[in-house]
Amino acid sequence: MTITPEKIQQFEAMIDAAERICIIMHANPDGDTIGSSLALSHILEHAGKQCSTVSTDSLADFYKFLPGAENINVFHKSARSVSDIMHDADLIFCMDFNAAHRTGKLEEVLNQTTAPKIMIDHHLFPDEGFFDLMFSKPGISSTAELLYEVIIASKYKPHLDKKSAECIFVGILTDTGSFSHSCNDPRTFEISAELIRYGLDVKAINDLVYNNSSEQRLRLLGYAISEKLVYRPESKAAYFSLSIEELKRFKEEPGFTEGIVNYGLAIRGVDFAALITEKEDVVKLSFRSKANLNVNRFARDHFDGGGHVNAAGGRSYVSLQETIEKLESLLPLLSEKYYD
Ligand code: 5GP
Ligand code: MN
Repeated sequence: MTITPEKIQQFEAMIDAAERICIIMHANPDGDTIGSSLALSHILEHAGKQCSTVSTDSLADFYKFLPGAENINVFHKSARSVSDIMHDADLIFCMDFNAAHRTGKLEEVLNQTTAPKIMIDHHLFPDEGFFDLMFSKPGISSTAELLYEVIIASKYKPHLDKKSAECIFVGILTDTGSFSHSCNDPRTFEISAELIRYGLDVKAINDLVYNNSSEQRLRLLGYAISEKLVYRPESKAAYFSLSIEELKRFKEEPGFTEGIVNYGLAIRGVDFAALITEKEDVVKLSFRSKANLNVNRFARDHFDGGGHVNAAGGRSYVSLQETIEKLESLLPLLSEKYYD
């Protein structure tokens, strides 16, 4: 059971005992880790607690409208102060990730902290030894939805307000691709309805998240689709690759490539899509799939990654070109091994 009265009691007791609470997001933060972290900070601050939010990397522009985003401490910008915040904390929340390495460059600092740790997350295979209390539910749409369930089971329910509702809603909205996947459970819609009752403007939120790109980001998407899409019908696969030089040409900013990978799945008959992005020190891969093609297992087996059945990520430590060749060589395995 993800949420039991005993675990809620422990959750409340750990918060009661804490003076300084630090809430941490995963690297390259997405709408779910940002939304659930900010929501939790609003709820606990409403209840009189002192909270700091921490991210390894800067936020994409289209998440900066979220209430509290301006107060997030970014390790990439001020490593020293983030490290101090984490060491001074007497309670740490890990939101939307289940192992220290998912915080990227923050991993070492996180491993050194001695404060008790509470995980709220929906990814498979949590690193159980690392956390003092875990709320883990891989089947749920988003960490934001799970946070809502934890909060309403606890004494903090009256501290939900419009700000935290908006943050939770954005977590659900973005992790379900605007309610297009991972939302077969009617509960996701019931919770969304409850959140909207706090006075949310769904159209305005949607515009802020999805109709808020720079011109360059839209042009990069067009370039990727028209020039960089590789389609392999025999493997039911499509993938894109983007080099540092190409990303520079389009004046890359945080979050620029988010969403591109999904367009690979838009081709009829394609079950597997990948985006390969060259970074300074690593090559990053994003995987998406349809139906029962398990990209979580594919990412774990071949690219030092993981995630969910239909959405996963990983990395490669060889060049962009070699990574493309490796992916090409693995495509025949999809039909042999990766349909559950
Ligand atoms: P994205 O492609 O958007 O970076 O990631 C897709 C999903 O996979 C997200 O839910 C993300 O949290 C997860 N993910 C991405 N990279 C990794 C990884 O290296 N390990 C694990 N366990 N999950 C990952
Ligand atoms: Mn998530």
